[in-house]
Amino acid sequence: MAQIRIENVRKDFGEFNAVKSSTFTVEDGEFFMLLGPSGCGKTTTLRMMAGLELPTSGKIYIGGEEVGMKRASERDIAFVFQMFALYPHMNVRRNISYPLVSQGMRKAEVAARVAEVAKILRIETILDKPVGGLSGGDRQRVALGRAIVRNPKAFFMDEPLGALDAEFREHMAEELRALHDRMGATTVYVTHDQLEAMQMGDKIVVMNHGVVEQFGKPQQIYDWPATKFVAKFIGSPPMNFLEFEGSVKAGSDHVNLSGHMVKVPMSRDDGLGKLALGIRPEHIRFKDSSAYRGRVIAVEYLGTTQIVTIETAHGEIKARTPSNQSAHVGELIGLNFDSRNLTIFDSATGNALVSEANEEVLNRG
Ligand code: ATP
Repeated sequence: MAQIRIENVRKDFGEFNAVKSSTFTVEDGEFFMLLGPSGCGKTTTLRMMAGLELPTSGKIYIGGEEVGMKRASERDIAFVFQMFALYPHMNVRRNISYPLVSQGMRKAEVAARVAEVAKILRIETILDKPVGGLSGGDRQRVALGRAIVRNPKAFFMDEPLGALDAEFREHMAEELRALHDRMGATTVYVTHDQLEAMQMGDKIVVMNHGVVEQFGKPQQIYDWPATKFVAKFIGSPPMNFLEFEGSVKAGSDHVNLSGHMVKVPMSRDDGLGKLALGIRPEHIRFKDSSAYRGRVIAVEYLGTTQIVTIETAHGEIKARTPSNQSAHVGELIGLNFDSRNLTIFDSATGNALVSEANEEVLNRG
């Protein structure tokens, strides 16, 4: 298995710049997610890492070796695509062994490898069945088997669960993650689904319009979004923003929200002009004595929690609170924010303003 690094990689299609200068490292054995909305350049990035597309500029390394100009077939990697193409006229065993047989591997070794893969995937009992009659899940396992059996340096997966219904998708996501943990194979996985990325990934790259907005562990990205885009894209409902005009004064760790001082986790002088205070729905508390108030405009019951939409002087926000907490439409409610959970963004650039202590967790690629 191998580390993969891309350095200042750019891709143009004619006049169109699909991927701007991107730099990040996938560590050996990591399950690494490329996440972003449709058209952000994640598939193009994956295809360049895998050798299906050549970068316009920049360098790509697999296992320390520069592979920028090497074709996919020379990179010793394996793909798992959304559409699992199996050979319908062959049984499971022959489908899995096909890549080895076509390389000219000896029969005994092929048999041993297939047995090992079948054990990892827990499909020993279906090895002699034709693939035509298999369930969707088993077909997916067979396709994975065919990728794994070559023992490649890395796996590349482009929305492999995209076509599945929600329940089965969740099941396969767990299975893929467990499989990864048993094998420890470096895996790069494209998805537009933030939940899938959070659940499965050791690390996530968040992309937007061809730009790496941030990369890091799921919790880092959730707790310390580097940009407003990341803060909005990850989390459901997304992070709230209270827009205000102001400055964060040197030495002061309070911002002035229309006369209400709110403590923030920083004290720096660079927050001048329009700012946005970012707060996750689950970090908003109701507190009668709080001077900062808003009016409840909707309450959505979700079982153990509820989503309460509140109109404030700085825009509409959504709070996630326990369902047994009283909140009625039309009611004025006192709001309390815990300073440890606030992020301040410069509204002009969308970038988070952070104290130096937090700079290292805001990896902007
Ligand atoms: P999706 O989830 O919709 O596939 P994505 O984030 O994977 O989105 P890419 O497929 O990487 O996005 O495409 C990024 C941009 O580059 C898109 O605007 C797309 O139209 C464009 N693009 C991709 N491949 C080509 C190509 N071969 N020629 C021209 N433009 C392309």
